[in-house]
Amino acid sequence: MTVTNNEAALEFLQRKPSLLINNQWVSSKGGTIAVINPATEEKISEIVDATDEDVELAVAAAREAFDTGEWGRTPAGERERLLHRLADLIDENRAELAELEYLDNGKPRKFFFNGDVPGAARNFRYFAGWATKIYGMTAESSYSPDHHVYTRKEPVGVAGMITPWNVPIAMAAWKLAPALAAGCACILKPAEETSLSALRLGELIVEAGFPPGAVNIITGEGASSGAAITAHESVDKIAFTGSTRVGKLIVQAATGNLKKVSLELGGKSPTLVFPDANLKKAIPACAMSIFMNSGQICAAGSRLYVHEKVFDEVISGIVEFAAKLKVGAGDDPDSVMGPLVNKTQLNTVSGYVDLGREEGAEVAVGGNRPFDRGYFYSPTVIVDANDKMRVTREEIFGPVLVAQPFADTDEAIARANDSDYGLFARAWTQDVSLAHTLAARFRAGNVHINGGTPPDPNIPFGGYKQSGWGRELGREGLDLYLQTKSVLVSL
Ligand code: NAP
Ligand code: MG
Repeated sequence: MTVTNNEAALEFLQRKPSLLINNQWVSSKGGTIAVINPATEEKISEIVDATDEDVELAVAAAREAFDTGEWGRTPAGERERLLHRLADLIDENRAELAELEYLDNGKPRKFFFNGDVPGAARNFRYFAGWATKIYGMTAESSYSPDHHVYTRKEPVGVAGMITPWNVPIAMAAWKLAPALAAGCACILKPAEETSLSALRLGELIVEAGFPPGAVNIITGEGASSGAAITAHESVDKIAFTGSTRVGKLIVQAATGNLKKVSLELGGKSPTLVFPDANLKKAIPACAMSIFMNSGQICAAGSRLYVHEKVFDEVISGIVEFAAKLKVGAGDDPDSVMGPLVNKTQLNTVSGYVDLGREEGAEVAVGGNRPFDRGYFYSPTVIVDANDKMRVTREEIFGPVLVAQPFADTDEAIARANDSDYGLFARAWTQDVSLAHTLAARFRAGNVHINGGTPPDPNIPFGGYKQSGWGRELGREGLDLYLQTKSVLVSL
């Protein structure tokens, strides 16, 4: 069996499982975890299942780097230069990174090559720029003209980062880039399902010249090594992306030393289509907002509300789109939708569709496994659902759209907002006034009207309600890794 023809990737897959601590690739006394290609169900590599001892070493390395080591005294201009160098190295190794990502995660390689990997480089460049644009302010004392008052923006310290498997290198970049720009020392724990790109990124971080301990990478199970980082008393901040269930565990575990916490969690994001919308654009966009990455996107447009006047037209358009969508392995250049990440997700997704059928909904297209081998699931559209059904309320994290008609605008907004989540909301209308009214009334951290772009490093991203705490990306993303010190000097 040929796993890959990309020589660099092949070599990487055969490397000894190890962890990055203090710029050294170290082995562990822990066991290993098999890395599975979700399109073939075959083992392609192994990673370390880190122990508590490994976490101790990583935290100690980060602590030392920040408190007394070279990294804590690295000037902003040098941090900027290092981040630019890392971005260049990501670009130079783009094919290998895309190869590792698609083998590990399943999404078609072309999307990693054209999207996630250059997107990660873009992110490092964007935050490289912020490193030299961090400043406090001077302030007037309310009490005395004889005091010089100013604020300093200082890095939070040691930051733990726990990321999910759905967009691996992007999530690593979203956290590492602002943290390093701010001057934090980092411990990254990628999802055990998809740790390869983070490990390769670790090699590039060392190659770029970051000093020892600035970035440490721990692989392993969330419930053990992830939990150990989260609970650690010497970690000052935790940045988490993942499920709302684990997000709540993170908050509880952080209470020991009251470390700062930022959370990017789940979603069940609504899309509203009004009768005046440009349906030629809306139909494929609504379809891809749920079928991209096999629906394994926190911001997926998983609930669709279409005005009753155009409901049949929009649904038949999406059903036709889904029926024609090319599902296949990530190295097939025609493939648009790859497999789900693992068997558990496949069982969860198919379980939800079965549940929808039991609840009385109808599957208009899909609802099956297209192949016997690999964790593929067909693009699926559920109709005749209602707002109380679990398929309408819970995050499925698969290529499953639940579509319902609506009759008037107030009703549509109320139903869109009737969710525990509040990550994303989308709408399609040509009416400018309605568009901005919707933008104001959606209870969601991100709104796209008539389509959007991929996540933009300059635009804050995050959730209302149980979709999270804080905003990544943009200036606000940098602020997650800074704290303010107010200084009064009696003159
Ligand atoms: P998950 O099970 O919550 O896992 C996320 C990460 O947390 C993984 O690295 C996981 O490790 C780790 N983890 C698990 N239990 C832990 C614990 N007790 N303490 C510390 N860390 C722990 O989520 P997932 O299934 O990987 O990802 C899917 C979820 O992520 C979806 O709900 C999706 O909406 C959400 N998501 C949100 C965003 C956003 O920006 N809002 C982006 C992407 C995904 P292991 O996997 O190694 O066990
Ligand atoms: Mg997981």
